[in-house]
Amino acid sequence: MNESIRPFIEKVSARNHGESEFLQAVAEVAESIIPYIEAQPKYKDSKILERIVEPERVVIFRVPWLDDKGQVQVNRGFRVQMNSSIGPYKGGLRFHPTVTLSVLKFLAFEQVFKNSLTGLPMGGGKGGSDFDPKGKSDNEIMKFCQSFMTELYRHVGDDIDIPAGDIGVGKREIGYLFGQYKRITGTFNGVLTGKAFEWGGSLIRPEATGYGLIYFVEEMLKVREDSLLGKRVLISGSGNVAQFAAEKCIEKGAKVLTMSDSEGFIYDPVGIDQEKLEYIKDLKDNQRGRIKEYAQRYSCEFFPGEKPWGIKCDIALPNATQNELNLSDAETLIQNGCICVAEGANMPCTPEAVAAFHEAKVLYAPGKAANAGGVAVSGLEMSQNSQRYSWGRTKVDNKLKEIMSDIHHICMKHGHEKDGHINYEKGANIGGFVKVAEAMLSQGIV
Ligand code: GLU
Repeated sequence: MNESIRPFIEKVSARNHGESEFLQAVAEVAESIIPYIEAQPKYKDSKILERIVEPERVVIFRVPWLDDKGQVQVNRGFRVQMNSSIGPYKGGLRFHPTVTLSVLKFLAFEQVFKNSLTGLPMGGGKGGSDFDPKGKSDNEIMKFCQSFMTELYRHVGDDIDIPAGDIGVGKREIGYLFGQYKRITGTFNGVLTGKAFEWGGSLIRPEATGYGLIYFVEEMLKVREDSLLGKRVLISGSGNVAQFAAEKCIEKGAKVLTMSDSEGFIYDPVGIDQEKLEYIKDLKDNQRGRIKEYAQRYSCEFFPGEKPWGIKCDIALPNATQNELNLSDAETLIQNGCICVAEGANMPCTPEAVAAFHEAKVLYAPGKAANAGGVAVSGLEMSQNSQRYSWGRTKVDNKLKEIMSDIHHICMKHGHEKDGHINYEKGANIGGFVKVAEAMLSQGIV
Protein backbone atom coordinates (compact mmCIF):
# COMPACT_ATOMS: atom_id res chain seq x y z
CA MET A 1 0.00 0.00 0.00
CA ASN A 2 1.18 3.50 -0.83
CA GLU A 3 2.06 5.25 2.47
CA SER A 4 0.09 8.39 1.59
CA ILE A 5 -3.20 6.50 1.71
CA ARG A 6 -2.56 4.62 4.98
CA PRO A 7 -4.22 7.09 7.43
CA PHE A 8 -7.36 7.19 5.29
CA ILE A 9 -7.54 3.41 4.95
CA GLU A 10 -7.01 2.95 8.69
CA LYS A 11 -9.95 5.25 9.39
CA VAL A 12 -12.19 3.43 6.93
CA SER A 13 -11.06 0.03 8.28
CA ALA A 14 -11.92 1.01 11.85
CA ARG A 15 -15.43 1.94 10.79
CA ASN A 16 -15.99 -1.09 8.54
CA HIS A 17 -14.32 -3.73 10.62
CA GLY A 18 -13.62 -7.02 8.88
CA GLU A 19 -15.26 -6.01 5.59
CA SER A 20 -12.32 -7.26 3.54
CA GLU A 21 -13.83 -7.02 0.04
CA PHE A 22 -15.16 -3.52 0.66
CA LEU A 23 -11.84 -2.36 2.10
CA GLN A 24 -10.00 -3.88 -0.87
CA ALA A 25 -12.17 -1.92 -3.29
CA VAL A 26 -11.79 1.30 -1.31
CA ALA A 27 -7.99 0.95 -1.10
CA GLU A 28 -7.80 0.38 -4.84
CA VAL A 29 -9.72 3.59 -5.54
CA ALA A 30 -7.92 5.58 -2.84
CA GLU A 31 -4.53 4.77 -4.43
CA SER A 32 -5.57 6.77 -7.49
CA ILE A 33 -7.80 9.38 -5.89
CA ILE A 34 -5.78 10.55 -2.87
CA PRO A 35 -2.81 11.77 -4.95
CA TYR A 36 -5.30 13.39 -7.36
CA ILE A 37 -7.25 15.30 -4.69
CA GLU A 38 -4.03 16.61 -3.16
CA ALA A 39 -3.95 18.91 -6.16
CA GLN A 40 -7.71 19.63 -5.96
CA PRO A 41 -8.37 21.31 -2.58
CA LYS A 42 -12.07 21.76 -3.39
CA TYR A 43 -12.57 17.99 -3.20
CA LYS A 44 -10.27 17.57 -0.25
CA ASP A 45 -11.78 20.32 1.90
CA SER A 46 -15.33 19.14 1.38
CA LYS A 47 -14.33 15.57 2.34
CA ILE A 48 -15.75 14.12 -0.85
CA LEU A 49 -13.80 10.86 -0.57
CA GLU A 50 -14.81 10.36 3.09
CA ARG A 51 -18.43 10.85 2.05
CA ILE A 52 -18.22 8.59 -1.02
CA VAL A 53 -17.09 5.59 1.03
CA GLU A 54 -20.09 5.89 3.35
CA PRO A 55 -23.27 4.37 1.84
CA GLU A 56 -26.22 6.76 1.80
CA ARG A 57 -28.35 3.92 3.13
CA VAL A 58 -28.19 0.15 3.71
CA VAL A 59 -31.29 -1.98 4.07
CA ILE A 60 -31.00 -5.49 5.54
CA PHE A 61 -34.06 -7.69 5.73
CA ARG A 62 -35.39 -11.15 6.44
CA VAL A 63 -36.47 -13.27 3.46
CA PRO A 64 -38.62 -16.19 4.64
CA TRP A 65 -39.93 -18.70 2.09
CA LEU A 66 -41.36 -22.22 1.85
CA ASP A 67 -39.37 -24.85 -0.04
CA ASP A 68 -40.90 -27.70 -2.06
CA LYS A 69 -41.00 -29.95 1.00
CA GLY A 70 -43.08 -27.39 2.83
CA GLN A 71 -40.17 -26.46 5.12
CA VAL A 72 -39.58 -22.86 6.17
CA GLN A 73 -36.31 -21.37 4.89
CA VAL A 74 -34.84 -18.05 5.94
CA ASN A 75 -32.32 -15.98 3.99
CA ARG A 76 -30.95 -12.50 4.42
CA GLY A 77 -31.69 -9.77 1.86
CA PHE A 78 -29.74 -6.57 1.30
CA ARG A 79 -29.85 -3.36 -0.70
CA VAL A 80 -26.90 -0.99 -0.47
CA GLN A 81 -27.83 2.50 -1.74
CA MET A 82 -24.37 3.90 -2.11
CA ASN A 83 -24.55 7.19 -3.98
CA SER A 84 -27.35 9.12 -5.71
CA SER A 85 -25.54 12.31 -6.66
CA ILE A 86 -25.77 11.82 -10.44
CA GLY A 87 -28.99 9.81 -10.63
CA PRO A 88 -31.16 7.24 -8.86
CA TYR A 89 -29.35 4.23 -7.37
CA LYS A 90 -28.63 1.63 -10.03
CA GLY A 91 -27.00 -1.76 -9.84
CA GLY A 92 -27.62 -5.46 -9.82
CA LEU A 93 -28.87 -8.06 -7.38
CA ARG A 94 -26.64 -11.02 -6.59
CA PHE A 95 -28.04 -14.30 -5.24
CA HIS A 96 -25.13 -16.44 -4.09
CA PRO A 97 -24.10 -18.12 -0.82
CA THR A 98 -20.95 -15.92 -0.65
CA VAL A 99 -23.04 -12.73 -0.45
CA THR A 100 -22.32 -10.64 2.65
CA LEU A 101 -22.66 -6.97 3.49
CA SER A 102 -18.96 -6.52 2.67
CA VAL A 103 -19.33 -8.06 -0.79
CA LEU A 104 -22.35 -5.92 -1.61
CA LYS A 105 -20.72 -2.75 -0.32
CA PHE A 106 -17.69 -3.41 -2.52
CA LEU A 107 -19.95 -4.00 -5.51
CA ALA A 108 -22.08 -0.91 -4.77
CA PHE A 109 -18.94 1.19 -4.38
CA GLU A 110 -17.54 -0.02 -7.72
CA GLN A 111 -20.91 0.62 -9.30
CA VAL A 112 -20.79 4.33 -8.40
CA PHE A 113 -17.64 4.81 -10.49
CA LYS A 114 -18.73 2.44 -13.24
CA ASN A 115 -22.10 4.12 -13.70
CA SER A 116 -20.48 7.53 -13.72
CA LEU A 117 -18.11 6.39 -16.49
CA THR A 118 -21.03 5.39 -18.73
CA GLY A 119 -21.98 9.07 -18.99
CA LEU A 120 -25.58 8.19 -18.14
CA PRO A 121 -27.45 9.65 -15.16
CA MET A 122 -27.23 6.70 -12.78
CA GLY A 123 -26.12 6.59 -9.16
CA GLY A 124 -24.70 3.44 -7.61
CA GLY A 125 -26.22 0.61 -5.61
CA LYS A 126 -26.17 -3.14 -5.25
CA GLY A 127 -28.19 -5.76 -3.47
CA GLY A 128 -28.88 -9.43 -3.17
CA SER A 129 -29.04 -12.34 -0.83
CA ASP A 130 -27.06 -15.29 0.50
CA PHE A 131 -29.72 -17.50 -1.13
CA ASP A 132 -28.15 -20.28 -3.21
CA PRO A 133 -30.10 -20.86 -6.44
CA LYS A 134 -28.09 -24.01 -7.21
CA GLY A 135 -30.30 -27.10 -7.09
CA LYS A 136 -33.49 -25.12 -6.39
CA SER A 137 -36.64 -25.85 -8.38
CA ASP A 138 -38.29 -23.22 -10.52
CA ASN A 139 -41.08 -23.01 -7.94
CA GLU A 140 -38.59 -22.39 -5.14
CA ILE A 141 -36.85 -19.66 -7.13
CA MET A 142 -40.23 -17.98 -7.68
CA LYS A 143 -41.19 -18.24 -4.01
CA PHE A 144 -37.85 -16.78 -2.98
CA CYS A 145 -38.06 -13.90 -5.48
CA GLN A 146 -41.61 -13.06 -4.38
CA SER A 147 -40.61 -12.96 -0.73
CA PHE A 148 -37.50 -10.90 -1.51
CA MET A 149 -39.57 -8.30 -3.40
CA THR A 150 -42.25 -8.22 -0.70
CA GLU A 151 -39.74 -6.26 1.37
CA LEU A 152 -37.60 -4.69 -1.36
CA TYR A 153 -40.52 -2.92 -3.09
CA ARG A 154 -40.59 -0.25 -0.32
CA HIS A 155 -37.07 0.84 -1.12
CA VAL A 156 -37.01 0.85 -4.94
CA GLY A 157 -38.79 2.67 -7.76
CA ASP A 158 -38.12 3.82 -11.31
CA ASP A 159 -36.93 7.23 -10.01
CA ILE A 160 -35.48 5.91 -6.74
CA ASP A 161 -33.48 2.72 -7.15
CA ILE A 162 -33.49 0.41 -10.17
CA PRO A 163 -32.07 -3.06 -9.54
CA ALA A 164 -31.05 -5.53 -12.27
CA GLY A 165 -29.34 -8.90 -12.51
CA ASP A 166 -25.91 -10.08 -11.42
CA ILE A 167 -24.62 -13.56 -10.43
CA GLY A 168 -27.62 -15.82 -9.80
CA VAL A 169 -30.14 -13.28 -11.09
CA GLY A 170 -31.08 -13.46 -14.75
CA LYS A 171 -34.12 -12.99 -16.94
CA ARG A 172 -36.17 -15.56 -15.01
CA GLU A 173 -35.55 -13.99 -11.59
CA ILE A 174 -36.12 -10.46 -12.93
CA GLY A 175 -39.49 -11.74 -14.23
CA TYR A 176 -40.56 -13.11 -10.86
CA LEU A 177 -39.34 -10.01 -9.02
CA PHE A 178 -41.15 -7.71 -11.44
CA GLY A 179 -44.37 -9.73 -11.23
CA GLN A 180 -44.41 -9.35 -7.46
CA TYR A 181 -43.55 -5.62 -7.60
CA LYS A 182 -46.40 -5.03 -10.02
CA ARG A 183 -48.81 -7.03 -7.89
CA ILE A 184 -47.95 -5.15 -4.69
CA THR A 185 -47.77 -1.64 -6.11
CA GLY A 186 -50.22 -1.93 -8.99
CA THR A 187 -47.79 -0.06 -11.24
CA PHE A 188 -46.10 -1.13 -14.45
CA ASN A 189 -42.89 0.84 -14.74
CA GLY A 190 -39.18 0.51 -15.30
CA VAL A 191 -38.29 -0.37 -11.71
CA LEU A 192 -36.02 -3.20 -12.85
CA THR A 193 -33.77 -3.60 -15.88
CA GLY A 194 -32.82 -6.79 -17.63
CA LYS A 195 -36.50 -7.42 -18.33
CA ALA A 196 -37.50 -9.69 -21.20
CA PHE A 197 -37.96 -7.77 -24.45
CA GLU A 198 -41.67 -8.60 -24.64
CA TRP A 199 -42.46 -6.55 -21.54
CA GLY A 200 -40.12 -3.60 -21.51
CA GLY A 201 -36.61 -5.02 -21.79
CA SER A 202 -34.01 -3.66 -24.18
CA LEU A 203 -32.56 -5.49 -27.14
CA ILE A 204 -28.84 -6.20 -26.63
CA ARG A 205 -29.18 -6.09 -22.79
CA PRO A 206 -28.39 -9.83 -22.46
CA GLU A 207 -25.34 -9.44 -24.70
CA ALA A 208 -24.26 -6.02 -23.39
CA THR A 209 -21.65 -6.83 -20.71
CA GLY A 210 -19.83 -9.41 -22.84
CA TYR A 211 -20.04 -7.43 -26.09
CA GLY A 212 -19.05 -4.21 -24.30
CA LEU A 213 -16.02 -5.96 -22.80
CA ILE A 214 -14.80 -6.95 -26.24
CA TYR A 215 -15.47 -3.47 -27.68
CA PHE A 216 -13.30 -2.13 -24.88
CA VAL A 217 -10.54 -4.67 -25.58
CA GLU A 218 -10.61 -3.65 -29.24
CA GLU A 219 -10.08 -0.01 -28.22
CA MET A 220 -7.12 -1.00 -26.03
CA LEU A 221 -5.53 -3.03 -28.80
CA LYS A 222 -6.12 -0.24 -31.32
CA VAL A 223 -3.84 2.04 -29.28
CA ARG A 224 -1.07 -0.48 -29.95
CA GLU A 225 -2.16 -0.74 -33.59
CA ASP A 226 -3.30 -4.27 -32.96
CA SER A 227 -6.58 -6.17 -33.23
CA LEU A 228 -8.36 -9.29 -32.02
CA LEU A 229 -7.81 -11.19 -35.24
CA GLY A 230 -6.04 -14.49 -34.51
CA LYS A 231 -5.60 -13.74 -30.79
CA ARG A 232 -5.73 -16.65 -28.32
CA VAL A 233 -8.21 -15.79 -25.57
CA LEU A 234 -8.73 -17.35 -22.15
CA ILE A 235 -12.16 -16.86 -20.66
CA SER A 236 -13.16 -17.87 -17.15
CA GLY A 237 -16.82 -18.29 -16.31
CA SER A 238 -19.60 -19.58 -18.54
CA GLY A 239 -22.50 -17.37 -17.49
CA ASN A 240 -23.99 -14.36 -19.19
CA VAL A 241 -20.81 -12.25 -19.43
CA ALA A 242 -18.55 -15.13 -20.51
CA GLN A 243 -20.98 -16.40 -23.16
CA PHE A 244 -21.37 -13.11 -24.99
CA ALA A 245 -17.71 -12.16 -24.61
CA ALA A 246 -16.89 -15.48 -26.28
CA GLU A 247 -19.47 -14.85 -29.00
CA LYS A 248 -18.00 -11.44 -29.85
CA CYS A 249 -14.42 -12.81 -29.78
CA ILE A 250 -15.42 -15.50 -32.27
CA GLU A 251 -17.08 -12.89 -34.49
CA LYS A 252 -13.87 -10.82 -34.44
CA GLY A 253 -11.71 -13.78 -35.51
CA ALA A 254 -10.12 -14.50 -32.13
CA LYS A 255 -9.70 -18.04 -30.80
CA VAL A 256 -11.47 -18.77 -27.51
CA LEU A 257 -9.54 -21.56 -25.77
CA THR A 258 -11.21 -21.90 -22.38
CA MET A 259 -14.37 -21.42 -20.36
CA SER A 260 -15.07 -22.54 -16.80
CA ASP A 261 -17.49 -22.98 -13.94
CA SER A 262 -17.06 -23.63 -10.23
CA GLU A 263 -16.06 -27.26 -10.96
CA GLY A 264 -13.18 -26.54 -13.32
CA PHE A 265 -12.33 -25.41 -16.85
CA ILE A 266 -12.39 -26.82 -20.37
CA TYR A 267 -9.48 -26.32 -22.75
CA ASP A 268 -10.38 -26.58 -26.41
CA PRO A 269 -7.11 -26.11 -28.38
CA VAL A 270 -8.86 -25.69 -31.74
CA GLY A 271 -11.10 -23.01 -30.28
CA ILE A 272 -14.73 -22.81 -29.20
CA ASP A 273 -16.78 -21.92 -32.28
CA GLN A 274 -20.31 -20.53 -32.43
CA GLU A 275 -21.89 -23.96 -32.70
CA LYS A 276 -20.03 -25.25 -29.64
CA LEU A 277 -20.86 -22.03 -27.81
CA GLU A 278 -24.57 -22.61 -28.47
CA TYR A 279 -24.18 -25.93 -26.67
CA ILE A 280 -22.66 -24.13 -23.64
CA LYS A 281 -25.42 -21.50 -23.68
CA ASP A 282 -28.02 -24.23 -23.68
CA LEU A 283 -26.26 -26.12 -20.86
CA LYS A 284 -26.08 -23.03 -18.72
CA ASP A 285 -29.22 -21.07 -19.54
CA ASN A 286 -31.53 -24.03 -19.12
CA GLN A 287 -29.55 -25.25 -16.12
CA ARG A 288 -29.11 -28.58 -17.89
CA GLY A 289 -25.54 -29.19 -16.90
CA ARG A 290 -22.00 -28.26 -16.06
CA ILE A 291 -19.16 -27.18 -18.32
CA LYS A 292 -17.40 -30.58 -18.05
CA GLU A 293 -20.10 -32.06 -20.30
CA TYR A 294 -18.58 -29.96 -23.10
CA ALA A 295 -15.28 -31.81 -22.70
CA GLN A 296 -17.02 -35.17 -23.11
CA ARG A 297 -19.01 -34.04 -26.11
CA TYR A 298 -16.19 -32.37 -28.02
CA SER A 299 -13.40 -34.64 -26.70
CA CYS A 300 -11.19 -32.01 -25.21
CA GLU A 301 -9.63 -31.71 -21.79
CA PHE A 302 -11.42 -30.81 -18.56
CA PHE A 303 -9.33 -29.62 -15.61
CA PRO A 304 -11.30 -30.24 -12.43
CA GLY A 305 -10.92 -27.66 -9.67
CA GLU A 306 -8.51 -25.55 -11.74
CA LYS A 307 -8.53 -22.11 -13.30
CA PRO A 308 -7.57 -21.49 -16.92
CA TRP A 309 -4.72 -19.01 -16.35
CA GLY A 310 -1.93 -21.54 -17.00
CA ILE A 311 -2.81 -21.95 -20.70
CA LYS A 312 -0.69 -19.91 -23.15
CA CYS A 313 -2.67 -16.93 -24.47
CA ASP A 314 -2.58 -13.38 -25.77
CA ILE A 315 -5.63 -12.11 -23.89
CA ALA A 316 -7.16 -13.12 -20.56
CA LEU A 317 -10.73 -12.25 -19.62
CA PRO A 318 -11.63 -13.10 -16.02
CA ASN A 319 -15.42 -13.21 -16.15
CA ALA A 320 -16.33 -15.31 -13.13
CA THR A 321 -16.11 -13.55 -9.77
CA GLN A 322 -14.04 -11.42 -7.34
CA ASN A 323 -10.42 -12.38 -6.57
CA GLU A 324 -10.35 -15.30 -8.99
CA LEU A 325 -6.95 -14.33 -10.46
CA ASN A 326 -4.04 -13.97 -8.01
CA LEU A 327 -0.40 -12.93 -8.19
CA SER A 328 0.89 -16.35 -9.20
CA ASP A 329 -1.75 -16.55 -11.98
CA ALA A 330 -0.69 -13.07 -13.13
CA GLU A 331 2.97 -14.09 -13.18
CA THR A 332 2.16 -17.18 -15.24
CA LEU A 333 0.14 -15.11 -17.72
CA ILE A 334 2.96 -12.57 -18.05
CA GLN A 335 5.59 -15.31 -18.51
CA ASN A 336 3.42 -16.89 -21.19
CA GLY A 337 3.31 -13.63 -23.14
CA CYS A 338 -0.21 -12.40 -22.36
CA ILE A 339 -0.54 -8.79 -23.58
CA CYS A 340 -3.99 -7.80 -22.33
CA VAL A 341 -6.21 -8.54 -19.33
CA ALA A 342 -9.72 -7.10 -19.18
CA GLU A 343 -12.13 -7.76 -16.34
CA GLY A 344 -15.61 -8.95 -17.28
CA ALA A 345 -16.31 -9.69 -13.61
CA ASN A 346 -16.09 -7.15 -10.79
CA MET A 347 -12.62 -7.07 -9.12
CA PRO A 348 -11.58 -10.55 -10.33
CA CYS A 349 -7.86 -9.71 -10.09
CA THR A 350 -6.29 -9.36 -6.65
CA PRO A 351 -4.38 -6.10 -5.96
CA GLU A 352 -1.06 -8.00 -6.20
CA ALA A 353 -2.03 -9.38 -9.62
CA VAL A 354 -2.96 -5.90 -10.84
CA ALA A 355 0.37 -4.50 -9.60
CA ALA A 356 2.18 -7.24 -11.54
CA PHE A 357 0.30 -6.35 -14.73
CA HIS A 358 1.20 -2.66 -14.34
CA GLU A 359 4.83 -3.55 -13.70
CA ALA A 360 4.99 -5.73 -16.83
CA LYS A 361 3.15 -3.06 -18.90
CA VAL A 362 0.39 -5.50 -19.74
CA LEU A 363 -2.74 -3.71 -20.96
CA TYR A 364 -4.99 -4.07 -17.93
CA ALA A 365 -8.61 -2.86 -17.78
CA PRO A 366 -10.49 -2.85 -14.46
CA GLY A 367 -14.07 -4.10 -14.39
CA LYS A 368 -15.52 -0.70 -13.64
CA ALA A 369 -14.44 0.38 -17.13
CA ALA A 370 -14.36 -2.86 -19.11
CA ASN A 371 -17.63 -4.39 -17.93
CA ALA A 372 -19.66 -1.18 -17.83
CA GLY A 373 -21.52 -2.18 -21.00
CA GLY A 374 -24.09 -4.13 -18.99
CA VAL A 375 -25.20 -1.28 -16.81
CA ALA A 376 -24.87 1.11 -19.76
CA VAL A 377 -27.52 -0.80 -21.69
CA SER A 378 -29.55 -0.99 -18.47
CA GLY A 379 -29.42 2.82 -18.59
CA LEU A 380 -30.63 2.69 -22.20
CA GLU A 381 -33.42 0.35 -21.10
CA MET A 382 -34.46 3.01 -18.56
CA SER A 383 -34.49 5.64 -21.33
CA GLN A 384 -36.68 3.43 -23.51
CA ASN A 385 -39.04 2.73 -20.59
CA SER A 386 -39.37 6.47 -19.89
CA GLN A 387 -40.14 7.08 -23.55
CA ARG A 388 -42.53 4.11 -23.58
CA TYR A 389 -40.73 2.94 -26.66
CA SER A 390 -38.27 0.26 -27.86
CA TRP A 391 -35.21 0.90 -29.95
CA GLY A 392 -33.89 -1.45 -32.65
CA ARG A 393 -30.89 -3.75 -32.17
CA THR A 394 -28.52 -1.68 -34.29
CA LYS A 395 -29.34 1.53 -32.47
CA VAL A 396 -28.67 -0.02 -29.04
CA ASP A 397 -25.54 -1.81 -30.22
CA ASN A 398 -24.13 1.37 -31.77
CA LYS A 399 -24.87 3.32 -28.61
CA LEU A 400 -23.09 0.60 -26.58
CA LYS A 401 -20.02 0.83 -28.86
CA GLU A 402 -20.01 4.59 -28.51
CA ILE A 403 -20.23 4.41 -24.70
CA MET A 404 -17.39 1.86 -24.46
CA SER A 405 -15.25 4.02 -26.73
CA ASP A 406 -16.04 7.11 -24.61
CA ILE A 407 -15.05 5.22 -21.45
CA HIS A 408 -11.80 4.27 -23.14
CA HIS A 409 -11.17 7.93 -23.92
CA ILE A 410 -11.80 8.94 -20.32
CA CYS A 411 -9.35 6.25 -19.13
CA MET A 412 -6.71 7.49 -21.58
CA LYS A 413 -7.23 11.09 -20.50
CA HIS A 414 -6.79 10.46 -16.78
CA GLY A 415 -4.59 7.38 -16.97
CA HIS A 416 -1.79 8.51 -19.28
CA GLU A 417 1.56 8.00 -17.53
CA LYS A 418 4.73 9.96 -18.28
CA ASP A 419 6.34 6.92 -19.93
CA GLY A 420 3.42 6.63 -22.36
CA HIS A 421 1.84 3.64 -20.60
CA ILE A 422 -1.89 3.92 -20.01
CA ASN A 423 -2.91 3.09 -16.47
CA TYR A 424 -6.57 2.24 -17.07
CA GLU A 425 -7.13 1.67 -13.38
CA LYS A 426 -6.09 5.18 -12.45
CA GLY A 427 -7.91 6.58 -15.49
CA ALA A 428 -11.18 4.84 -14.61
CA ASN A 429 -11.00 5.81 -10.94
CA ILE A 430 -10.29 9.48 -11.56
CA GLY A 431 -12.66 9.69 -14.54
CA GLY A 432 -15.48 8.08 -12.56
CA PHE A 433 -14.75 10.18 -9.47
CA VAL A 434 -14.73 13.64 -11.06
CA LYS A 435 -18.34 13.58 -12.24
CA VAL A 436 -19.66 12.28 -8.91
CA ALA A 437 -17.49 14.69 -6.93
CA GLU A 438 -18.64 17.70 -8.98
CA ALA A 439 -22.28 16.69 -8.47
CA MET A 440 -21.73 16.32 -4.73
CA LEU A 441 -20.08 19.74 -4.56
CA SER A 442 -23.03 21.35 -6.35
CA GLN A 443 -25.56 19.69 -4.08
CA GLY A 444 -24.03 20.87 -0.79
CA ILE A 445 -23.12 18.83 2.26
CA VAL A 446 -25.47 15.89 1.77
N1 GLU B 1 -24.65 -6.40 -12.37
C1 GLU B 1 -24.17 -5.64 -13.47
C2 GLU B 1 -22.93 -4.87 -13.08
O1 GLU B 1 -22.14 -5.35 -12.27
C3 GLU B 1 -25.25 -4.81 -14.13
C4 GLU B 1 -26.00 -3.86 -13.23
C5 GLU B 1 -27.20 -3.19 -13.90
O2 GLU B 1 -27.49 -3.44 -15.05
O3 GLU B 1 -27.82 -2.38 -13.21
O4 GLU B 1 -22.62 -3.82 -13.56
